[in-house]
Amino acid sequence: MTVFILPKIQDKRRCAPGGWASMILRAYIECPACEAPVILRVGVARERQPFAVACPVCQSTIRGETIEADDGLPRFHLPGIKKLPPELPDADWKVVTTYGDLPNNPESGEFSAFLSAYQTFGDGPFQTYLQHVATVRWFGERVDALEHAYGFYLREKWDLLDSVMTRHFAEVWPDKPSALDRHTLIHRLLYMLVLAMDPKGMYPAAKYETWSRSFKKHAEFSECAHSIISQPDFNATRRRVFEQFIGLLRNYTEWMPTLAVTHLRAREKPIPEGWRVPLGRIDSLRDAYRQNFEVSCQMLPLIIRLQNIAEGRAPDVIRTPGITGEWEPRALQTKDYVNNINQYIKAKAATKEAYLNRHRLLRCYWNSAFSRDVRNSIAHAEFDYVMHDGIVTYKSRKVPYYVFIEALIKQVTLLAFWLDLCKLYAIYGSRWDAQNGKFMGLN
Ligand SMILES: [Zn+2]
Repeated sequence: MTVFILPKIQDKRRCAPGGWASMILRAYIECPACEAPVILRVGVARERQPFAVACPVCQSTIRGETIEADDGLPRFHLPGIKKLPPELPDADWKVVTTYGDLPNNPESGEFSAFLSAYQTFGDGPFQTYLQHVATVRWFGERVDALEHAYGFYLREKWDLLDSVMTRHFAEVWPDKPSALDRHTLIHRLLYMLVLAMDPKGMYPAAKYETWSRSFKKHAEFSECAHSIISQPDFNATRRRVFEQFIGLLRNYTEWMPTLAVTHLRAREKPIPEGWRVPLGRIDSLRDAYRQNFEVSCQMLPLIIRLQNIAEGRAPDVIRTPGITGEWEPRALQTKDYVNNINQYIKAKAATKEAYLNRHRLLRCYWNSAFSRDVRNSIAHAEFDYVMHDGIVTYKSRKVPYYVFIEALIKQVTLLAFWLDLCKLYAIYGSRWDAQNGKFMGLN
């Protein structure tokens, strides 16, 4: 197997203190809703950066974007918004600040979001954090190539896959990749992205827990995987998971500011009071949340089958009717027990989740990514975002908007986890000799 190390990803121009990251654009404007004079301050981090802030006087949403002008410097693009002369007599200016890639504190006046985050993290951890931000951008900027490559991978167009990977990810792609390389290297590349987004290491912990179920049962697993990957459903679900994943990566600027919160939590540091993250498009993020949950549920039977095999049952058998004491999650009532995969697939979401009881770490990971209350509130259109407070409300609960995005970031990594799991099935399934009923080994 080929081993590779991803080249150190650096993005000096936009990350170094003194570069764009600390550049604040300022505009004197009239609030398009209440006509109050407002000083708009936006920390610029990218070529093109849409933003939305709440008017400090009337709390209406003011939208605009920053763009890169011909001279290479950032400028405001504020269609429909009237600019005011800075020296306007008797104006009672109110200041509003936002920042593209970092949380900011709207109460903090002139203070820079960059310096605030720097002080919150501390010097060393902040540099590490910027490195993770650069990694996410590195992937975000290559999202099309990744989408093409993965499309070829799913359709097993190996020559085309090699060609795209060599053109865009030469650092990780060998000249003559083996069949196993093609399965593993593309997922190892995705894992580099996960590393930047999962500082608690929930993915690798859950991966070890799940993968270890196939230890010592290679032949049984290979036979089961062979029948699974031959079903058209397998590739359809896999594609669905990938589309969710790549869609969220394409819109990485919507969730990336919250990455600072994710990393602070992993360091067990408190999130500064008043921290807000720039708003993403709440409608599409809400839809993504829901879809992520549904496709994740469609992946669960793969986990259950592995567990059945590990416990010595046929892959589709969960429990023998009439016999008690087999796989019966304590969280369920007797009437909700399922006997086989077919019943499991038709069961309601809460029942499906209860069968993660033999995967403690995966269950933890799952719970950190999906909240039943949030999910139900979205499904019933009871999930609201309040712009001027920076909070979301659901089920009479109020949480900072970034709590919602934190879960979404976990979901992105969980989608990568499912792709990895499908890969395991694809590799083992392709090594089953159906004619002779034999596992051919992995090499
Ligand atoms: Zn206003």
